[in-house]
Amino acid sequence: MTARGRFDALFLDRDGTLIVERGYLSDPAGVRLSPGAAAGLRRFTDAGTLLFVVSNQSGIARGLLTWDAVNAVNAEVERRLLARGVPVAGFLVCPHYPGGTVAAYSRRCRCRKPGTALHRRAIRAFGLKAGRCAVVGDKWDDVGAGVALGAAAAHVLTGHGRLHRRAVEKRAPGTILAGTLAGALAKLEALPQSRKAGHPSR
Ligand SMILES: [Mg+2]
Ligand SMILES: [Zn+2]
Repeated sequence: MTARGRFDALFLDRDGTLIVERGYLSDPAGVRLSPGAAAGLRRFTDAGTLLFVVSNQSGIARGLLTWDAVNAVNAEVERRLLARGVPVAGFLVCPHYPGGTVAAYSRRCRCRKPGTALHRRAIRAFGLKAGRCAVVGDKWDDVGAGVALGAAAAHVLTGHGRLHRRAVEKRAPGTILAGTLAGALAKLEALPQSRKAGHPSR
């Protein structure tokens, strides 16, 4: 297996974490990377850590976004990061929402965070260890998925972060707290090796 540094993979929320929250963003021109995100992420990907973007896009079920629009925004995020030397291993999108307006996507599912179906699919496909992964997000839903996976979890104050802080501190007291994604990445790098549950260092 290829060496993957401290972490096998990072699972990053997109809106409000990796990019500035815009609310059902459909225009690639609206993509703004979070300050310091690219430089911080490059330290991880240079060390062999895989980067996945995991995003709840209920706007698809609500009829507010098309797959084409979501894919165009993701392509722009990928392009911006790659221009900074940061490859994205995959974009994982949940289009569902119970009570949406588009019948095909208006249902409960296992992939909408805090569900973990998307994370687990990547973990299986790439032969990763969940305990050597980390999640970062601005909502409890992001952190909750990380807790369910047994991954390290970090919560940021950008996006909807302030609204979700209390829930995160109450429900997952071990969560790393940071102002921004860049801050969360620095704290993840500083975690003691013992946090990598049960896996020998290499
Ligand atoms: Mg978010
Ligand atoms: Zn889903």
